[in-house]
Amino acid sequence: MKRGKVFVISGPSGVGKGTLCTELMKLYPDLAATTVSVTTRAPRPGETDGVHYYFRSDEEFDRMLAKDMFLETVDKFTHRYGTLFSEVERVLAAGKNVILEIEMIGGANVKKRIPDAVLIFILPPTLSALTDRIVGRGSESAEQIRIRQAQVETEFDQAKPYEYFVVNDELDLAVERVKAIIVAEGLKADACDVKKQYFGR
Ligand code: 5GP
Repeated sequence: MKRGKVFVISGPSGVGKGTLCTELMKLYPDLAATTVSVTTRAPRPGETDGVHYYFRSDEEFDRMLAKDMFLETVDKFTHRYGTLFSEVERVLAAGKNVILEIEMIGGANVKKRIPDAVLIFILPPTLSALTDRIVGRGSESAEQIRIRQAQVETEFDQAKPYEYFVVNDELDLAVERVKAIIVAEGLKADACDVKKQYFGR
């Protein structure tokens, strides 16, 4: 079975990455699958352990680190997040592409460990649309909102190593753009085999 590729999807907080990925999986379930990360933050209302994240204590996170279970980890907003090797492998073994919906430091670290991983950055249509959406979510305190807004500037700086930039102006269009990237990158990966098969080199 052909092995899939790793795609990192990042973007500033509140840009709508989660909705975009959910919609992509719904429309194209055979194309790619997301992984479940580990976090030390508390679940928000409506979040389920093992579905949205594996919610773990700091001590448990340390134990997982010691066992070298993470492809990458990051400290963010006083909490820790990490991508499990086992989650990535589960999706690749099923012959699908992996989508890691993670922040940019993690994205850069994934690229270092897996050089053919593809980094995709999701952009808001405007900066004000971005801050409106964070406030609109209603789950963050005023202080958390202020911290997140200050992060936006830094986040754009961290976008430099990214290879694709997709504006999330209309969800349907953004989903199609990301799908196009995944399909094209798959064809690029196949090119070597095709050349051998058709041209003998
Ligand atoms: P939230 O707490 O709002 O769910 O996520 C905060 C940020 O952490 C988001 O940008 C999200 O994409 C990112 N994130 C979630 N899981 C991981 C992970 O495993 N690794 C890294 N590097 N970032 C993650």
